[in-house]
Amino acid sequence: MDISSVLQGGYQHPLSRSWQARRTLTKGMLMYPIFITDDPDAYVDIPSLPGQARWGVNRLEGFLGPLVKKGLKSVILFGVPMLCQKDGSGTPADDPKGPVILAIQTLRLLFPTLYIACDVCLCEYTSHGHCGVLHEDGTINSEPSAARIAEVALAYAKAGAHCVAPSDMMDGRIKAIKRALIDAGYGNKCTLMSYSAKFASALYGPFRDAAGSAPSFGDRKCYQLPPTAKGLARRAITRDIAEGADIIMVKPALPYLDVISDAAELAPDHPLACYQVSGEYAMVVAGARAGVYDLRTMAFETTESMIRAGCTLILSYFTPQFLDWLDE
Ligand SMILES: [Zn+2]
Repeated sequence: MDISSVLQGGYQHPLSRSWQARRTLTKGMLMYPIFITDDPDAYVDIPSLPGQARWGVNRLEGFLGPLVKKGLKSVILFGVPMLCQKDGSGTPADDPKGPVILAIQTLRLLFPTLYIACDVCLCEYTSHGHCGVLHEDGTINSEPSAARIAEVALAYAKAGAHCVAPSDMMDGRIKAIKRALIDAGYGNKCTLMSYSAKFASALYGPFRDAAGSAPSFGDRKCYQLPPTAKGLARRAITRDIAEGADIIMVKPALPYLDVISDAAELAPDHPLACYQVSGEYAMVVAGARAGVYDLRTMAFETTESMIRAGCTLILSYFTPQFLDWLDE
């Protein structure tokens, strides 16, 4: 056999197999998505998102304490208001007594080393369930939408969030948020992570169950990207870098590994995040339950594919399990 034909000598041992990775999954690369509701004592299982729940602020110590002990480094908070009065501009989003702001303050006190990111959107708080402010005809009104999103992001930064992460996909919101943070003295205190390439995916179903955030009319296709839109995703990533994003995100992850790879090329000097969304997580769990594969093996394979594509940060519902698996 020719010398140039032989590769197996390079990866015949478990250790030399591990050296084939450019980057290896660590606990610090995982950010755990948490649903916070406005009943402070709530603990409500989400059937379509196995193992995940909606939590009240009073439950956070018991829920997250053991995970922090195991090495949980960061969470991202999603507000799930059930009791508030929703309106056209999402007024309850930055209510100082709302679940997200109370949770930020509580977590900062309970776990001083935990990194706290906050999803920023209006859809959980608007009467129409859309992610921005609307014209009378029901279309998106871009400038007031970006301005309102920026107000909400600033309120979370002031409450103590280490990172604000707008998921609304409104035009101009990265620039508006960055400007608001800088003008209020938070430019050097709060990271801005942009959901830059967020696709209109069929994989968000369990999340909508969890967050109760389905729009009351229409859909989100006028602001979320078409799944076929490789070029548009590249333009969105390039725009958000220019507008001041500190971290770029691609969402969902597994069907969009090529976009993650593009983002790594377009933003080589930025941290790159992806969100293994609710439906991806549920799909991996369902396949394991159906006997198609071993859960742990598939959780590693899917997550490591995202790292291979270029991610340095993964938002994952598997985070609690990985905290155990990565110790073994
Ligand atoms: Zn939204």
